[in-house]
Amino acid sequence: MERSFISELTEKDNNKKVLVKGWVSEIRSLGKVQFIVLRDKTDSIQCVAHKDEIKEDIFNKISKIPIESVIEIEGKIKTSKQAKKGFEISIHDLNVLSESLTPLPIDTSEKSKTMIDKRLDYRFLDLRRPHISAIFKVRSKVFNFISNYFESKNFVSINTPKITAGGVESGAEQFAIDYFGKEAFLAQSPQVYKQMFVLSGLERVYEIGEVFRAEKSHTTRHLTEFTGIDFEMGFIKDENDVMDIIDELMKYVLKEVKEKCRPELELLNVKIDVPKKIPRITLDEARKLLEKKGKKIPEKEDPDPEAEKLLGEIVKEKYDSDFVFVTLYPVEKRPFYHMKPKNNPKVTQSFDLLYKGVEISTGAQREHRYEVLKQQAKEKGIDLDKMGFYADIFKYGSCPHGGAGLGFDRIIQRMLNLENVREAILLPRDPERLTP
Ligand code: ATP
Ligand code: MG
Repeated sequence: MERSFISELTEKDNNKKVLVKGWVSEIRSLGKVQFIVLRDKTDSIQCVAHKDEIKEDIFNKISKIPIESVIEIEGKIKTSKQAKKGFEISIHDLNVLSESLTPLPIDTSEKSKTMIDKRLDYRFLDLRRPHISAIFKVRSKVFNFISNYFESKNFVSINTPKITAGGVESGAEQFAIDYFGKEAFLAQSPQVYKQMFVLSGLERVYEIGEVFRAEKSHTTRHLTEFTGIDFEMGFIKDENDVMDIIDELMKYVLKEVKEKCRPELELLNVKIDVPKKIPRITLDEARKLLEKKGKKIPEKEDPDPEAEKLLGEIVKEKYDSDFVFVTLYPVEKRPFYHMKPKNNPKVTQSFDLLYKGVEISTGAQREHRYEVLKQQAKEKGIDLDKMGFYADIFKYGSCPHGGAGLGFDRIIQRMLNLENVREAILLPRDPERLTP
């Protein structure tokens, strides 16, 4: 007999013979009847054994099966008013494929209150809980929706090196590695390569890949290895074209999640709000809005996480949007390659995107004119010509372009209202964690 997945079974299958396989969630023995709650990757089902209906040795072994053992059950679908699904499986035969050790290192029941550190130590057992595995089913779908969106807009997917000789950002956040006796760095962003391949003539490129940051941050939004969604596009009018893409991308992704992840959203008790249009406010306007609520941001500083959180709340109230673009960041706070508008050399044509009060993206129009770029680099104490191939890419025909980087893990965290970004990634890396 072929295996059925639990979610495929329905009341209409009454009396049908089935074979199901999975993990044991629960066992209850009530004298002449015993219940097993069996779980597979799709759902759970109650299975029942009646003493006078099955072989004695099978009946007797049920109460001895440890929770989380892997078993297979042959039986018949029976409608039942008491069962949660309106039907259950009446057991005819049962086979233990692998007995679990006891006690379990972490509680795998949905009621579990295990601390996150312990849960991450045993992440594969943590995922035995349906509301945890639901996060990763949604994440997998979102990964696809994002690729679909970029492909539909004629972006070309690229994979760029993660072992590099250095990037365009300051070196402080790079992990140095020993590369056959030479110093190399793990890529802290694909920035140089994205620009390179726009200027290669591909014009529109995107990459969903690992990004490494050697920041010793112990926050609920920082990892040392995360998944970045990077894109870059040529022949833009200005940074608004880049924001248009993100606006459309987020709306598309959320709409798809809402439609195609219903069971997971239900398990996670999450409601998805698709914004109409993401509002765009300048950093100055954001400062004023914050000041009205009693939060003053010093002239020379960016909004801190607390201010970003408050701004998220203000925007939700004012524009009914979970998202907001904050634009025109000052030159001092942005890398040298961000373009400056003609009428205001103090700011950059850049933006941050906040989702429920946390930054999920930074983007900008890039300076594509070699001489101007060289000058801007100089103003920050950088010699463009010492940056090797980065300088070269602007010398042989360079079009106006811009792009952004989004944090995939943070998007999932914000979307599913998870407390910590570590909940949104299978195996987080942070300053304290290198295993499993
Ligand atoms: P933050 O100010 O929050 O540290 P950042 O401005 O340094 O972030 P960017 O260089 O703008 O980050 O990176 C682009 C995006 O990548 C960010 O908007 C964020 O969504 C994500 N990101 C950046 N750093 C991390 C990190 N350490 N862990 C997880 N996601 C990150
Ligand atoms: Mg940023």
